[in-house]
Amino acid sequence: ASLFASVDMAPRDPILGLNEQFQADPNPNKVNLGVGVYTDENGKLPLLACVKEAENVLAEIPKPRGYLPIDGIAAYDKAVQSLVFGADSEVLRAGRVVTVQALGGTGGLKVGADFLKRLNPSARVLISDPSWENHRALFESAGFDVGNYPYYDAAARGVAFEAMLGALNQAQAGTVIVLHACCHNPTGYDLTPAQWGQVIAVVQARGLVPFLDMAYQGFGEGIAEDGAVIQQFVASGLDFFVSTSFSKSFSLYGERVGALSVVCESKEEAARVLSQLKRVIRTNYSNPPTHGAQVVTTVLSTPALRAQWEQELANMRERIRSMRAALVDRLKAHGVATDLRFITRQKGMFSYSGLTPQQMERLRAEYGIYGVSTGRICVAALNTHNIDYVAKAMAAIMR
Ligand code: PMP
Repeated sequence: ASLFASVDMAPRDPILGLNEQFQADPNPNKVNLGVGVYTDENGKLPLLACVKEAENVLAEIPKPRGYLPIDGIAAYDKAVQSLVFGADSEVLRAGRVVTVQALGGTGGLKVGADFLKRLNPSARVLISDPSWENHRALFESAGFDVGNYPYYDAAARGVAFEAMLGALNQAQAGTVIVLHACCHNPTGYDLTPAQWGQVIAVVQARGLVPFLDMAYQGFGEGIAEDGAVIQQFVASGLDFFVSTSFSKSFSLYGERVGALSVVCESKEEAARVLSQLKRVIRTNYSNPPTHGAQVVTTVLSTPALRAQWEQELANMRERIRSMRAALVDRLKAHGVATDLRFITRQKGMFSYSGLTPQQMERLRAEYGIYGVSTGRICVAALNTHNIDYVAKAMAAIMR
């Protein structure tokens, strides 16, 4: 038998499979609401002007491409820290935070997961039910047993908060709790500051390990507003993990720019943690790539470019919000009489539409509108050219 005779075909990524189906669909009106990327008013992936400008600046001073340090560009790690924790953060001043450049938010999660596995091999991991589809696989591949905590309340169109809290209250000390810092993927429902306070209290009382996944900072209410949860965790005095992704906020998906930050108890502890994070990185991919992190560093540390980025991010956020409002208006105009306010209550790129798998299948088969079978649609893929078509189709199916 050949060497690979026993290799099974791995299951297809459901969302990528959906993309292939979409590409092959001859329907001229087809709309892809399945993918998790922001497209602009013309349905195009944007190249942010601040990114283009930063690339121009960088091209002016061509640099040789040596290896980066294992933990990435020092100025990048610093820029990420002040974005995530605030420029005048007390934990930064105290030297209690370590930040390493990572391959996107996924890379940040994976470096954190591998580190945690070495730290506490028998810990369990709990992710939200439902969660980003890669959370479970990623932590399982790091060797963890992964469970769920309740999150989505379909009937209430919101967070099943009491059930969530109950599950956290039953978790064993040392359990890693993966939390979506903002713009929950896939549901779009976030915790309120008061609810975060309750989560923090339980995490503290039970000795749990919080791991905040921040993949959409700036897509909810604003950079500072979305980052406020980090301030709450800092104020609690807890040690915790934060993964950062710039894939969406800089529209730099393919450059793989992200980070992992770990808040430690002391500067001395932070140095030891950093040494272990470097070991994880070194044995996985040695050191991170240069270009994307240079772009982000240039934008974040050049005041004019920084202001431009904040404006461009605000434009993306506002466009998504206007699409949420427009979707509600048009669904109503097309005769949907149910309460649709949940659509504008949700934050970020996604909406759990409440549509059933059968309804999602009808959207695809009858209208060429592609969304995930769970009912998740990407609001950031709506625009003034396709929203009427989408609203009409959804209304026909909801009636
Ligand atoms: N976490 C969540 C919740 C996400 O939605 C995503 C991306 N879709 C990621 C992490 C990974 O981001 P990146 O593409 O930067 O690896």
